[in-house]
Amino acid sequence: MGTMDFAQLLHDHELKATGARVALLQALAREPHLSAEQLEQQLASQQTKLSGQAVYNALNELTEHGILRRFTIPSTSARYEIDPKDNHHHAVCNRCGRIENVPCAHGSAPCFHPGGATSFSIHIADVLFYGQCKNGCGPGSAPGGIH
Ligand SMILES: [Zn+2]
Ligand SMILES: [Zn+2]
Ligand SMILES: [Zn+2]
Repeated sequence: MGTMDFAQLLHDHELKATGARVALLQALAREPHLSAEQLEQQLASQQTKLSGQAVYNALNELTEHGILRRFTIPSTSARYEIDPKDNHHHAVCNRCGRIENVPCAHGSAPCFHPGGATSFSIHIADVLFYGQCKNGCGPGSAPGGIH
């Protein structure tokens, strides 16, 4: 997606195509699954200097409008990606922290239903797969990983 497409996407959601929103969408189109801190650093390295608060506000607005999807890996910051509306899941390397999309075997939410009766109407079963990179962890991996 180019800049113009993002402007149109924002317009479709009745959001102004501000520099912050477009820059965040472009960054996430290049590399999904980034945290607010990582996005702030990426934009700063491209001379798009946004305050942490500006990044946080824009991410929240885009998430509320369903343009971005936010997901959380326990014990790390929330991650963002442009929501492809495909109910995909994530696999996380517990050595290097790399995150990869995993297609949903079921295809739509919820993937699973509880084994017994509940007083809930279930909307989502949140699936997170943990494992390790098959071919060794890459050089771009985050140090520390997720344990
Ligand atoms: Zn994803
Ligand atoms: Zn699924
Ligand atoms: Zn790894």
